[in-house]
Amino acid sequence: MTTPLQVRRTRDDDRIFTDMPDSPDNPCIACGGCCAHFRVSFYCGELAGGSGGFVPVEMTSKVNELIACMQGTETGHGRCTALEGELGKPGIRCRIYANRPTTCREFSPWEPDGTPNPDCQRLRDNLGLPPLAALADTATSA
Ligand code: SF4
Repeated sequence: MTTPLQVRRTRDDDRIFTDMPDSPDNPCIACGGCCAHFRVSFYCGELAGGSGGFVPVEMTSKVNELIACMQGTETGHGRCTALEGELGKPGIRCRIYANRPTTCREFSPWEPDGTPNPDCQRLRDNLGLPPLAALADTATSA
């Protein structure tokens, strides 16, 4: 059995989170385009601390009383502070992958039907990377 290239999990609140495997076939580990383009903002309840959150506070900025964002992404088109490595080169990675915000978990390289995410295609093209091919095997779990 081959390892699926992405695993989608449907949450109790119907949000779909995507996990990417630690595999050389994972296109994200030679990309990082989304991590240096969007503002990565999220509900402050996800911040590590007394409320049961998990995102390291020292890597975040305050947007307002309810919203935080990853440092570096405050205005968009900036590189997330948790991103390690060179954009578009093998070995780039998220230093807090297990504790990344839900915003990152909801961004998937492939749509539910296996077609590539158009935003990935655009961001990869900006980095000189080849487009993603359609995916035949998108694993889903509860
Ligand atoms: S832009 Fe797409 S392929 Fe590139 S790191 Fe983000 S999710 Fe992965």
